[in-house]
Amino acid sequence: MSFDYDLFVIGGGSGGVRAARVAAAGGASVALAEEDRYGGTCVIRGCVPKKLMVFASEYSGMVEDGRAYGWDLENKGFSWDHFKGKLNAELDRLEGIYRNLLKNSGVESFDARAKLADAHTVALSDGTTKTAKHILIATGGRPWVPEFPGSELAITSNEMFHLEKLPESILIVGGGYIASEFAGIMNGLGVKTTQYYRGEQILRGFDNEARGLVAEEMIQSGIDLQLGNNVAEMQREGDKMRVTATNGDVTLFDQVMFATGRKPNADNLGLEELGIARGKGGEIKVDQYSQTAVPSVYAIGDVTDRVNLTPVAIREGMAFVETVFNGNPTSPDHELIPTAIFTQPEMGTIGLSEEDAAKEETIEVYSTSFKPMQQSFAGRAQKVLMKLIVSQASRKVLGCHIVAPGAGEMIQLAGIAVKMGATKEDFDRTVAVHPTMSEELVTLKTPVRTV
Ligand code: NDP
Repeated sequence: MSFDYDLFVIGGGSGGVRAARVAAAGGASVALAEEDRYGGTCVIRGCVPKKLMVFASEYSGMVEDGRAYGWDLENKGFSWDHFKGKLNAELDRLEGIYRNLLKNSGVESFDARAKLADAHTVALSDGTTKTAKHILIATGGRPWVPEFPGSELAITSNEMFHLEKLPESILIVGGGYIASEFAGIMNGLGVKTTQYYRGEQILRGFDNEARGLVAEEMIQSGIDLQLGNNVAEMQREGDKMRVTATNGDVTLFDQVMFATGRKPNADNLGLEELGIARGKGGEIKVDQYSQTAVPSVYAIGDVTDRVNLTPVAIREGMAFVETVFNGNPTSPDHELIPTAIFTQPEMGTIGLSEEDAAKEETIEVYSTSFKPMQQSFAGRAQKVLMKLIVSQASRKVLGCHIVAPGAGEMIQLAGIAVKMGATKEDFDRTVAVHPTMSEELVTLKTPVRTV
């Protein structure tokens, strides 16, 4: 049987574009459909614009620090219009790069929504159908807001990059990556920021000591972090939002952003008709090779809700190509993934938290918290944390947790050692780079506790 293409990819985000390009580079004939902007969540409404906003928001503190170092600096305020203009131009540039990457690799792209018509056919919203030997679904996810009276008034991270004007006050709901990162961004940009999180501490699942320090420093920097609180209902009052909280408080905010999790984009793709199973959260079920219940259809990235991170989706895409086009069955490796949360302060982490490791075996905890030189000189109170979780039996470093400016950069490098199976003694054998914050990771002499 002959097909129009060897591979048809649905979704032009990080995972889909990478899989399409790599397959095409290996000689496959490849097409890709994207209904929205090329680059997907990460490039258009996630990691990239978010990080640029983090950078923008950090300058307020830098001006103060600069003054403490003797610079005659004046902070005349932040122009949202200026920043937004530059941000939009940058996103246009990046989208162009993504389109060109596909074109230059010989991938045919369609600006259309695609849906499975059968195991080898996709129907495009322009009315045409295309056949392919293999179909890859890489449609990502979208923000999800719970239903409550007035929930339609809430905005999500998608809208944060397009605000007409910077609000004077904002309520951010949720305690995950997105909520906590945006709380730091808004606060840094000078917006009166309140964060409600329903649980006991933000960033559930991460090391307790690390997330405790992040929360403490967020509060120190001016965020009104309210734990054990949630939105009960909200209504419009003039150009503000009147929010009634579960603790009974009634407050007016200019904007209310919900970051209460994301849902896979797997509706109306024709999956049910083909018998492709979906999980409880709506994610597409796949095996270790990203293959669905229909052998010619694969899925990668957030739509499969495994580890929802851009670099993981990219890895899953490459493993798919290796499996299907290079005859080398390869499972994406989901173990020991380093990750950063761009809160202020930033957190970088790999491996097990103290709490999770202690459930498995006896561990030694090495940890130090201090005021780093640069901020301390400037009179800023922010503390950093360097922490290692070590197996008492094997001496392996099971987890590394860093809360510090630049923690994302640090954990990328420390992550190599941990991924390689480095022991505490390997860390100790490494000479310190002085004076740095991360040198503490190789000079932690005695455990603060054994649990
Ligand atoms: P998360 O799943 O990380 O967090 C969702 C938050 O919303 C949790 O605090 C959760 O509380 C809370 N929540 C869920 N339901 C409700 C509800 N009904 N009412 C109130 N609160 C609720 O989702 P995010 O949206 O923050 O991020 C999605 C994913 O995107 C992450 O898992 C991550 O993989 C990825 N991401 C990664 C980034 C990075 O690498 N730096 C940055 C941004 C996103 P509870 O804890 O109680 O369940």
